[in-house]
Amino acid sequence: MSTVPEYFGSQVFDDRVMRSVLSADVYASLRRTIDEGTELDIRVANAVAQAMKDWAAARGATHFTHWFQPLTGITAEKHDSFISPAPDGSVIMEFSGKELIKGEPDASSFPSGGLRATFEARGYTAWDPTSYAFIKDRTLCIPTAFCSYGGQALDKKTPLLRSMEALNRQALRILRLFGNDTVKRVVSSVGPEQEYFLITREMYDQRPDLRFTGRTLFGARPPKGQELDDHYFGAIKPGVAAFMADLNDELWKLGILAKTEHNEVAPAQHELAPIYTTTNVATDHNQLTMEVMQKVAARHGLVCLLHEKPFAGVNGSGKHNNWSIATDSGQNLLSPGETPYENAQFLLFLCAVIKAVDDYQDLLRISVATAGNDHRLGANEAPPAVISMFLGDELNAVLEAIETDSPYEGARKTQMKLGVDVLPKFNRDTTDRNRTSPFAFTGNKFEFRMLGSSNSIACANIMLNSAVAESLRIYADRLEAASDFETALHEMIRKTIRDHKRIIFNGNGYDDAWIREATEQRGLLNYRTTADCMPHLLDRKNADMLIGLGVFTEEELRSRRDIMLENYCKSVEIEAVTMIDMARTQIAPAIESYASDVAASASAKKAAVPSLSCRYESGLVTALSEHTEAIAEKTLVLEDALQKVHTAPDIVAEATLVRDLLLPAMEQLRRPCDEAELITAKDYWPFPTYGDLLFGVK
Ligand code: ADP
Ligand code: MG
Repeated sequence: MSTVPEYFGSQVFDDRVMRSVLSADVYASLRRTIDEGTELDIRVANAVAQAMKDWAAARGATHFTHWFQPLTGITAEKHDSFISPAPDGSVIMEFSGKELIKGEPDASSFPSGGLRATFEARGYTAWDPTSYAFIKDRTLCIPTAFCSYGGQALDKKTPLLRSMEALNRQALRILRLFGNDTVKRVVSSVGPEQEYFLITREMYDQRPDLRFTGRTLFGARPPKGQELDDHYFGAIKPGVAAFMADLNDELWKLGILAKTEHNEVAPAQHELAPIYTTTNVATDHNQLTMEVMQKVAARHGLVCLLHEKPFAGVNGSGKHNNWSIATDSGQNLLSPGETPYENAQFLLFLCAVIKAVDDYQDLLRISVATAGNDHRLGANEAPPAVISMFLGDELNAVLEAIETDSPYEGARKTQMKLGVDVLPKFNRDTTDRNRTSPFAFTGNKFEFRMLGSSNSIACANIMLNSAVAESLRIYADRLEAASDFETALHEMIRKTIRDHKRIIFNGNGYDDAWIREATEQRGLLNYRTTADCMPHLLDRKNADMLIGLGVFTEEELRSRRDIMLENYCKSVEIEAVTMIDMARTQIAPAIESYASDVAASASAKKAAVPSLSCRYESGLVTALSEHTEAIAEKTLVLEDALQKVHTAPDIVAEATLVRDLLLPAMEQLRRPCDEAELITAKDYWPFPTYGDLLFGVK
């Protein structure tokens, strides 16, 4: 067996491979395209395609595909083989520059939110050379963007790349103002921590709710859950360890920097974190990671659940998006510096993020909105739906001192007055990390913790990059026009703190009192569900910002709102239908069968011993019968709600009905089923219980 450095990236057409298989001028020209975004001429593309094909074929690949991220949230691929017929009846392997650069999948079945209807029926995919091609399942996968013929983005990668470009443009303007003339690019990076559950395949197969919706729609709490906190960072079971080892191998071969693995809070819950990388690549890698997790789990007789809330009453799964911005020379712009001058620059970038998060709370909330994640946010285990920022004690003290022009009580006790040269030197925060904050500064990066485990991280980073780019744009406009840079800078930092400090909260985000304070006193937004927040994607301030920066067009925004709402409605509607089906065909019959056996046994006992009261049996049969009656009634109520939802005139109205009618009706049906589970003999229950599922993996 070879060592990790030997097989790391063995399935990736990375820089090492490019350098070794491309001629010097082809390599140089491709490198320019990757680093600076220059256009690639067809001669170079042909040479790259040929080299890629030879390299992939030597590793057993027979097909190629343009790998893209449509608005379904998962990845899509259509495979074409390399073969091309020769006159003598044989075949040769071919792959042209044209095929590398552009593909034309029949894309009519991907969601477009009406975009394609107004333009062209077909879309095209375009090579993204900034993310390396790789081999998966004997197929050469080429990361691509997916657009309509009118140039409208039909995917998540295109706006992500546009948002990175917007951030780069505005951050460079700021750096120039600070006298930095050498930096060429500013890039945002992300390290996403991915949570997931592992359960056995055998049990999964017995639960229609898991198979059709990814989460359990029924299930009483097990006697033991996560109360003892004995799972978090606990010893990893052999079956899970074998899965993790295999997973790491697969990810490393794909050049994914899988780094940390541990058990999470809930039983059967685990986490994997890679080392951070460029946002675009991190997004591709996270999509791949989720896919590989499912595949590797299957090989181990397991199923990897990526749903945000697979089990009620047990912690859900999220994805922490660790985000920072750095220059091409590796300077992290969110790192406090060594000198007051560097710290002034840091404070400006920090303020840009504070302003961005406050001004665009709604966009950040929207970027993580799915039916699944709605169950998790605010469920006392995950950040609430209210967005706030945690900065830590030291930074807070610095900001307060600046705001009030008072002495900074930090290590240096520096008086802070106008002019950046007196901004203090301060250290990284050393106070306790606040785990309840949705958006926390953790020393040299921000950790956005509201993402759901199954979300593509693209959406959150599109909004984050764009909102911060917008703050920087406004700052750069003012500073470029200022006669005295240092005074203007100091004033702007102060103004930002004054105007936006309401978004900063260092207390316990899980506390109900905080939600009241946030909404009633601070005026922060609290969009509890997808139906609440999604329509605001089109609010004028949001659309103006995103369109102004060139990240989305108005049509793209409208289509995305519609697709996200459709996705929300469809997901819940499928859950409702699955519940009705399970309640009618599995749960009610199971309870009935148990009740009738209990009744029969009581009759038999009474026949044998007439003096017996059989109070236990009659009480049980009564309780069971009450539950089946409630189930029958609530099933009808749910059916009725489903009918009403289907008559909604448009998608916004439909989402509102899903929130107000359907979800509450599902809750109502669940209750008698879960209560019945607690008094029904285990042998009769038609599928594995929470206890079985959560403690089933050995
Ligand atoms: P935890 O939050 O679990 O304590 P860390 O903070 O060490 O763990 O790291 C979590 C993730 O943050 C990892 O993916 C790591 O690579 C990433 N990370 C670390 N530094 C940065 C940075 N400057 N920018 C973006 N991500 C980062
Ligand atoms: Mg973390």
